[in-house]
Amino acid sequence: MRVWNAPEVPAVPRPDGTAVDVPLLYDTASGQLVEARPDDVARLYVCGITPYDATHLGHAATYLAFDTLQRVWRDAGYRVHYAQNITDVDDPLLERAAQTGVDWRALADEQIDLFRRDMEALRILPPDDYVAVTEVIEQIGRATSILLDRGMAYRLGDDVYFDIQAAQDAAPWVLGEESGLDRATMLALSAERGGDPDRAGKRDPLDPLLWRGPRPGEPSWPSEAGEGRPGWHIECSVIALMHLGRDFTVQGGGSDLVFPHHELSAGHAAALSGHPLARVYSHAGMVAYDGKKMSKSLGNLVLVSGLREQGADPRTIRLALLAHHYRSDWEWFDSALDEARLRLTAWQSAISRRADEVDAEAALEEAALVARIRAALRNDLDTPSALRAVDQWAATRPAVVTDLVPRAIDALLGIPLATAR
Ligand code: ZN
Repeated sequence: MRVWNAPEVPAVPRPDGTAVDVPLLYDTASGQLVEARPDDVARLYVCGITPYDATHLGHAATYLAFDTLQRVWRDAGYRVHYAQNITDVDDPLLERAAQTGVDWRALADEQIDLFRRDMEALRILPPDDYVAVTEVIEQIGRATSILLDRGMAYRLGDDVYFDIQAAQDAAPWVLGEESGLDRATMLALSAERGGDPDRAGKRDPLDPLLWRGPRPGEPSWPSEAGEGRPGWHIECSVIALMHLGRDFTVQGGGSDLVFPHHELSAGHAAALSGHPLARVYSHAGMVAYDGKKMSKSLGNLVLVSGLREQGADPRTIRLALLAHHYRSDWEWFDSALDEARLRLTAWQSAISRRADEVDAEAALEEAALVARIRAALRNDLDTPSALRAVDQWAATRPAVVTDLVPRAIDALLGIPLATAR
């Protein structure tokens, strides 16, 4: 799939002798802060959208969190290889298309295009591999057939299910290792999030669908697993293995994907490759509005495109999101944009006061601020602390002597201060 245009990311000079640190990131599986240390290249997979009701602020906050991670890696000198999927054939999309009388492909195309425009406006770095499920049907069918051959999948009618028990016996993967959830919670979440624990004939109620046989009125494709279409979790396992390889650096997404999606994507990948999916499993918190989690089903979505249509500067949307720690659950208030606008103006005003001559002390203050921004972001992407550090510096009404601060704010926080928009 075509991606959106990448923003420019200026290089930020590093004072001689300062160490380049890899970011510390909270790992859901171990429940600890761990070093997100790349091998030669940082390999990142973040689950993409199901293209309907894009792009609400919950989506934007998640992609922004992993955009920040990429910026920290790049600043530390690592090359980043980033892959993302698009779930462009799945039950919720097909249901929405049927409800509204729109062809599911047309709905997906329109929503993917809107998502691209929103991501570009927010200056989110695009993935290197942006892969729609409909582009890899054949590969997913083959992966399903491999799992059947290895005895880690079974047929139920025309459908194919992943055999959790067989996979645990054969592959380096244990159910619950990532989410840490008990079985009762898993069963409840499975029912709530696209699973079918009550279906008769499954070996384990939690076994997820790998391949769905043809149904009247649903799209289907021929494949090595038979005619049908992919289940949900297997798409990400296959796309990640194809483009990033096994055991990559960070698997990311919203915290509502921890179970079953990420847990079982990791299971499928381990069953296919014989290795863990990723080293670090990182999850962004949920955004609420009107007192409830922002979600399609509740209808309380605040869309990035809606804010843009109302004239919001995308930099203020970005700043409003960065004001919250990515891992926390938080609530969006309409006043957030006003606060972000005040902050943006204060920062712009600070960098516009150029000193007539070089002032060694001011230059040291600028270097100290950039060091504080770097330290905050390195510590589990602590953007609120980074923003406060800039606020404090700007409040001292400095006369700016170098371009270090605006460069760092652009490169690390994605906010170009000098441009009008
Ligand atoms: Zn995924």
